[in-house]
Amino acid sequence: MIELRNVSKSYPNGTKGLNRINLTIGKGEFVVIVGLSGAGKSTMLRSINRLHEITEGEILIEGKSITKAKGAGLRRIRRDIGMVFQSFNLVKRSSVIRNVLAGRVGYHSTLRTVLGLFPKEDINLALNALERVNILEKAYIRADQLSGGQQQRVAIARVLAQQAKIILADEPVASLDPLTTKQVMDDLRKINQELGITTIVNLHYIDLAREYATRIIGLRAGEVVFDGPVAEATDEV
Ligand code: ADP
Ligand code: ADP
Repeated sequence: MIELRNVSKSYPNGTKGLNRINLTIGKGEFVVIVGLSGAGKSTMLRSINRLHEITEGEILIEGKSITKAKGAGLRRIRRDIGMVFQSFNLVKRSSVIRNVLAGRVGYHSTLRTVLGLFPKEDINLALNALERVNILEKAYIRADQLSGGQQQRVAIARVLAQQAKIILADEPVASLDPLTTKQVMDDLRKINQELGITTIVNLHYIDLAREYATRIIGLRAGEVVFDGPVAEATDEV
């Protein structure tokens, strides 16, 4: 489903973010990537979605090379990949439902979406997504009126409305308190289990990784230093 072949990423200033990574992640896995700040976790997720260009190797998504894809082909692959960020990345002044509808943009012409014209089916998808993360009653409230945890659930609903097959979550709970952290991680686990969405989450707490992951990948200085089931992960990874 996701395959990294000999992937390296060097930044323009010479910093190596990733060094010769080989990995395969199967459909429906719940993978947590752990590592200290600077280990390469963000670089890994940004590479998978091609938010930046890798400098060596190739990444395949469901057998198709995202590294080589262009134009419509690239957009088609990206549609299957939803992103969740530490800082939520919502349009703060827009309503919750408009934020969720942003997940539908890749399915329509630019003009339609600029004008905010989404078909009824999209509205239904958005409302269903909000229901799944238990914030349906917030649909018509401005996004910036919600708590951090609720905003993150809007971001998850956006990925659901996108009908993504893969979720890449980059430190999704880093700015949340422990209770909200649990709610957001529970939502991610629920949609992984119920919808079979392949999930990759960056975390810097091994305890949280243990609680949720089916597989843990440990990164250090851009290299994989551990890859295995939760039971085998020590505090050293
Ligand atoms: P995190 O550790 O949470 O992944 P950082 O604080 O390292 O995030 O990075 C924040 C932003 O700064 C990101 O956009 C990242 O790409 C960029 N960045 C990180 N390290 C450097 C660096 N050495 N030089 C330039 N930009 C950097
Ligand atoms: P993590 O997400 O594990 O904190 P990152 O992927 O953000 O790690 O960073 C990996 C390495 O790449 C670090 O040394 C970081 O400083 C560097 N880095 C990240 N973004 C940039 C950037 N935009 N420019 C230069 N170096 C960067």
